[in-house]
Amino acid sequence: MTVTPYDKREGFIWMNGELLPWCDARVHLLTHALHYGSAVFEGERVYDGEIFKLTEHSMRLHESAKGLDFEIPFSVAEIDKASREVVRANKLVDGYVRPIAWRGSEQMGVAAQATKINLAIAAWDWGSYFDPAARQKGLRLAIGHYLRPDPRTAPVKSKATGLYMICTIEKHRAERAGYNDALMLDWRGQIAEATGANIFFIKDGVLHTPLPDCFLDGITRRTVIGLAKQRGLKVIERAMMPEEMAEFSECFITGTAAEVTPVSEIGPYKFKVGDITRNLMSDYAALVHPVKAVAAAG
Ligand code: PMP
Repeated sequence: MTVTPYDKREGFIWMNGELLPWCDARVHLLTHALHYGSAVFEGERVYDGEIFKLTEHSMRLHESAKGLDFEIPFSVAEIDKASREVVRANKLVDGYVRPIAWRGSEQMGVAAQATKINLAIAAWDWGSYFDPAARQKGLRLAIGHYLRPDPRTAPVKSKATGLYMICTIEKHRAERAGYNDALMLDWRGQIAEATGANIFFIKDGVLHTPLPDCFLDGITRRTVIGLAKQRGLKVIERAMMPEEMAEFSECFITGTAAEVTPVSEIGPYKFKVGDITRNLMSDYAALVHPVKAVAAAG
C-alpha cells in the first residue's frame, strides 16, 4: 500500500491565523522545537462534522504549553474557531484534527526566551488507529522497557512531543516482536498506560484503572468512566502493579485515536473480549456518533 506522505497532501492547514494550502505549511530546519522538543499538541476526532470535546482539547493545549513554560498567543475560543474552520475547509465529515504549538527559529540554544510561539492546525481523514481485525479480536500488548517518568523528571501533564520519544521506541519494539502496542509501567514499576492511550481492567464487574499521576488523564478516559458509571458500574482509580493483571478477566484501552479498543493479551497475561468492554465500546460509539446511533436505532 502506498501512503501519500503527510507533507504532500491536498487541503488546507491553519497556521498562525491563516488558512494555507497544505503544502505551504512549512517550518525552517533551525526551529527550536525540532532541536529541543519545545512543542505541545492535541489529537481530536471529528464525528459527523463535529469535533468531539473540542473545547476540552483546546484548553488542554493551553495547559500543556504552560507546562513547557510558554503561552499560546491565541485564546481557547480562537483555537476552537480555527479548528472548526480547518475541518470545514477540508470538507471532513469523519476525521482527525492535530493542533500543534511550538517555539520558532528566532533563537537557537537551550534558552529560547526570544522565540515566537507558533500555532498550526491540520485535519485529515483517519480511520481506525489499530488494524480493524486486531481491534475485533483484542490487541496484543508487549510490556515496555522504558518507564513513564516521575513528575519531578518531566512535565508529565503536558501533551508534549518530547514525552513521546520513549513511546515510539516501545511501540517499535512491540511491533517488531509481533505485538500491536506496548503497556508502559511508570517510574515506580506500576501500570501506567499504552503508548498513546489509557488502560482499564475488569474483575467481577468492577473497572480498575491506574491513577493518572504521571501521565495524561485522557479525555476519553474521563468520558468512559462517566459511561461506566451511567451503567451502574463501579470504577476504582488506584495504583496497580503488573502482577495483578493475572486476576482480571477483561482489559481495554481508551484514547481519542484508539477510542475504546479491547486488549486480549499483555505479555504473559490473557483477557477475553467480554460484555462490559463491548457495551462500553458501543456506548462510546453512540455518544460520539449521535447521528448514526439515532439512524441505527430508527
Ligand atoms: N496517553 C497518551 C500517551 C496519549 O497519547 C493519549 C492520546 N492523546 C492518551 C493517553 C489518551 O488521551 P485522550 O483520551 O485525551 O486522547
